[in-house]
Amino acid sequence: MLVKPKKSLGQHFLTDKNIAKEIVDSLKATNLTKVLEIGPGMGVLTNFLLENSAYETSVIEIDHESVDYLNQHFPQLKDRIITGDFLQIDIAKEVSDTPFAIIGNLPYNISSQIFFKVLYNRLLIPEVVCMLQKEVAKRIASGPGSKVYGILSVFLQAWYDIEYLIDVPPHVFEPPPKVQSAVIRLTANDRTELGCNEKLFFKVVKQAFNQRRKMLRNSIRGFSPRIEELDAVLLTRRPEQLSVEEFIDLTNNIEKLIALDLEKKE
Ligand code: SAM
Repeated sequence: MLVKPKKSLGQHFLTDKNIAKEIVDSLKATNLTKVLEIGPGMGVLTNFLLENSAYETSVIEIDHESVDYLNQHFPQLKDRIITGDFLQIDIAKEVSDTPFAIIGNLPYNISSQIFFKVLYNRLLIPEVVCMLQKEVAKRIASGPGSKVYGILSVFLQAWYDIEYLIDVPPHVFEPPPKVQSAVIRLTANDRTELGCNEKLFFKVVKQAFNQRRKMLRNSIRGFSPRIEELDAVLLTRRPEQLSVEEFIDLTNNIEKLIALDLEKKE
């Protein structure tokens, strides 16, 4: 019996085995043996992962019906099926406390949340290969100057090199999604430190893109009454024009202003 697709869980099962193989073959897994698949469903990717004896594959699946299917069809996975919600698990405890790669044809409705979780656990996750909504894939992979460059692009590009790999049309899924899909690969870059206050960096990037059409002068003025002391040209720029490095510099400069504001108060 096949699993009945559930819309609420973003279940669109990939039916094209060539594409499934291409996705699994896109894993580089340099210096890694452990692989976690998010949302295996009926195991179209899992099948190819298990064929590669170099990988120690685990899967996490929220849907009990899919877990029953996997238990029946992939008995060799037995102890490596985590039944649960990827967004809720403690990665170091329940998956691995040593680095591993993530692969998955993601549930599109929660793909951004999945990336935030990846970012939070980035030291354990040096590589991600995943299929997701094309529009989100483009956004994540695009650089400054692009209309779709945004919060997730900056956060992910701070820590990962992003490659846009292939487009995937709706008709190779059952049921077909209403949107186009694409596969991307994230590979951890060499950065070990951000070079600025990380919490403030997240706040600055979010605040700047909350008003993406506005000049920085307007969007970030809430951080300090001295915001006009920043570089005049910089203040006229829009967030979509700033590289990760420029956001890091901006964060450092805002932090200096905040320190001056505090000194004044004391
Ligand atoms: N990998 C299968 C394929 O390619 O045919 C299924 C992909 S389907 C787009 C997404 C899968 O993610 C479904 O099996 C769904 O049950 C599962 N899923 C949805 N939300 C999840 C979550 N929070 N944690 C783990 N799995 C989830």
